[in-house]
Amino acid sequence: MSAIDNLPPLREVIANHQLSARKSLGQNFLLDLNLTAKIARQAGDLSDCDVLEIGPGPGGLTRGLLSEGARKVLALEKDTRCMPALQEIAEAYPGRLEVINGDALEINPLTHLTPPIRIAANLPYNVGTELLVRWLTPPEWPPFWQSLTLMFQREVAERIVAQPGSKAYGRLAILSQWRSDARIVLSLPPGAFTPPPKVSSAVVHLTALPEPRFPADAAILSRVVAAAFNQRRKMLRAALKGVTPGIEDHLIAAGIKPTQRAEEVSLEAFCALAREIEQA
Ligand code: SAM
Repeated sequence: MSAIDNLPPLREVIANHQLSARKSLGQNFLLDLNLTAKIARQAGDLSDCDVLEIGPGPGGLTRGLLSEGARKVLALEKDTRCMPALQEIAEAYPGRLEVINGDALEINPLTHLTPPIRIAANLPYNVGTELLVRWLTPPEWPPFWQSLTLMFQREVAERIVAQPGSKAYGRLAILSQWRSDARIVLSLPPGAFTPPPKVSSAVVHLTALPEPRFPADAAILSRVVAAAFNQRRKMLRAALKGVTPGIEDHLIAAGIKPTQRAEEVSLEAFCALAREIEQA
């Protein structure tokens, strides 16, 4: 029996179901159930929430989420080999775990979930950033989720929480911080995973703000930030030349020096620039 439930330890589950990790699916498993329960606790009070989990694998984090009291977990897993192990968890927590075998990039989970909804995942590295960007850029705000508790490679986690003036500061920081509170809540060494990845990891917790931190049109802000950081070494008057005519005047009106580089410009100033462009 394991530390947190009546199910077998994860090493046994992996051996019983022959779940050798596959690199092509970004599989680095967490086998310490005390650790997965700790990650689940970072997601907040789960007792009145449905939780969407991407990539449950053999179910370590899934068991953490359920033992920490999640009302329901919807788990989307691409690897068919994991289905029997996940079925055993569903039987141990009747009515609280639904598993869908498929690609998280192609499944619309909303018809299977009841708000309030939180998202928690040890993300497959190959689809992690794409999913995060999708969750941060829905057609309407507030989004369908209240919070995201996500494991990333440390370098990606640092890009999410980065501040102006740092190398990590860029599009991901702006997208994350414009409409969410984002912080790193746990750091994990490679040895926490089986097999160990080459780099360290970190858990980031993002809470959706009810309103954007500063007003701006999402599409314009997104276009400006993409252009600014695509050529991050250039002065903004050059990097943003193609975005709209008269960019130099817009930059000045937004309080940004046209000779500045994207890396030096705050989120607030980027939002001011987006408003200037919108009003032109
Ligand atoms: N949650 C487990 C844990 O913490 O031990 C496994 C995490 S492992 C880093 C990522 C998981 O995502 C794997 O189980 C992998 O099969 C699954 N996966 C990879 N790509 C996926 C996709 N496009 N959709 C759903 N699951 C995916």
